[in-house]
Amino acid sequence: MRAFLKVHMKIAVIGGGITGLTAAYELSKLGHSVDILEASDQIGGLAAGFPLNGTSLEKTYHHIFLTDRDIIDLVKELGIEATLLWRPSSIGCYENGKIYPFGTVTSLLSYSPLLFLSRIRLGIVTFYLQKTSRWSRFIHVPAAEWMTRWCGKSVFEHLWKPLLIGKFHHFYNRVSMAWLWARIHTRGRSKTNIFAKEKLGYFQGGFAVLIDNLSKAAKKNGVTMHTHASVRSLRANDEGKVQVQTESDSTAYDRVIATIPSSVFAKLIDGDSHVSEKDIELLRSIDYLGAVCFVFTSTQSLAEQYWTNVLDAGLPFLVFVQHTRLIDPSMYGGEHVYYAGTYLPHDHSFFIQSEDHVCRIMLEGVQKMFPHFDTSAVRQTFLFRLKNAQHVVDTDYVRKIPPSLSRLPGVYLANFSQIFPEDRGTNFAVREGRKIAALVLNGLPVNG
Ligand SMILES: Cc1cc2nc3c(=O)[nH]c(=O)nc-3n(C[C@H](O)[C@H](O)[C@H](O)COP(=O)(O)OP(=O)(O)OC[C@H]3O[C@@H](n4cnc5c(N)ncnc54)[C@H](O)[C@@H]3O)c2cc1C
Repeated sequence: MRAFLKVHMKIAVIGGGITGLTAAYELSKLGHSVDILEASDQIGGLAAGFPLNGTSLEKTYHHIFLTDRDIIDLVKELGIEATLLWRPSSIGCYENGKIYPFGTVTSLLSYSPLLFLSRIRLGIVTFYLQKTSRWSRFIHVPAAEWMTRWCGKSVFEHLWKPLLIGKFHHFYNRVSMAWLWARIHTRGRSKTNIFAKEKLGYFQGGFAVLIDNLSKAAKKNGVTMHTHASVRSLRANDEGKVQVQTESDSTAYDRVIATIPSSVFAKLIDGDSHVSEKDIELLRSIDYLGAVCFVFTSTQSLAEQYWTNVLDAGLPFLVFVQHTRLIDPSMYGGEHVYYAGTYLPHDHSFFIQSEDHVCRIMLEGVQKMFPHFDTSAVRQTFLFRLKNAQHVVDTDYVRKIPPSLSRLPGVYLANFSQIFPEDRGTNFAVREGRKIAALVLNGLPVNG
């Protein structure tokens, strides 16, 4: 081992999501002293769960793909591979009051809302995007423009436009084709062949199994975890260290890794003399949307598919997930578990209105989608409203990607806005957590 790795560092990791947990775990393996500072009341970030019928369920739908090598490696390292279940997935598209099977060659050929020629065209374009790895030429091209050109206007208006609006709201026509390429490419690689059903991974006991085991391994190495510890500012101090200010405490660290959204990071470093107005502007130029997820359980089974894309702007959600089509209801005491989710700007009324009100609107949407929906069979309802859940990957995005090493000496940034062209995900959170830990170790000579 290189000599400089023996220098002991005191490191703060801001944010206890999967990126922060992984980085803390990696650094703790080498004996560094690591504190995780997490603003909320629990560890896990966007992948955090809540107790449901004797187990844990994520606040927002989560699964992993067969291609998610980094998270699968971590699962093996933690010795919890027996808890990772691989199950065949199924997809549908809801429109005109009906759910049409989707996502396989046969379902595409029989997808009657599109003309036969349009189905063939969509199939060829999807197949091409799944196979090609030459994505850099898509970076500055709007997905809306590319898809209209190659799939045709009717396919775009019918399928891609509602999906893009559902995910990116009013930013939809600025989204980069490189982002959409990555989504289609990854999903294609999660199948063993084009006729096979996609397989998705989920933990027996939820993602809490991964979060708890990773936390346990990190704690065993001496990592301390502080919840309700919202960091307010980061400043270089006179001793060449970083002063980390929370609501109730101010501590000096040798290194700081921030795993928080870029716009939040901008607030923390704004005002330090090393940081320019331009740095702050760049961090703030990344737009984020929030996620609103309505979760309910019922004794009634509603959908044939695990995942349904909602192509009906009249419904208040973009995706409807019958989680218990992937995982057996016996894990949840025999009840079916559902998600109805959407991405919205932070000033949308769903972030302000009462929980009861939003739940009622969501339930009305479910009723519209499934006329046979029996509300008396509903057992529990939950509403989760998460800020900074998705960043907008526009055609100018490569210019905005923030560097891992900030201008403030000793302060590093690792968050999902640096992942490109892939979409954020727990797999990439593990990858970025490992990468930033390695960078902190290799950059040690700064003060060490
Ligand atoms: C609706 C939805 C569905 C998803 N589905 C999937 C899926 O199916 N599969 C998958 O792999 N991934 C999925 N993801 C993505 C996945 O959850 C994230 O990519 C991953 O959890 C990000 O981890 P992170 O640690 O980088 O960030 P985060 O989870 O955002 O963690 C950042 C942490 O920083 C904390 N924080 C913020 N500000 C401060 C501060 N000032 N001081 C201290 N702490 C602070 C936050 O509270 C948070 O806990 C989904 C996400 C959403 C929103």
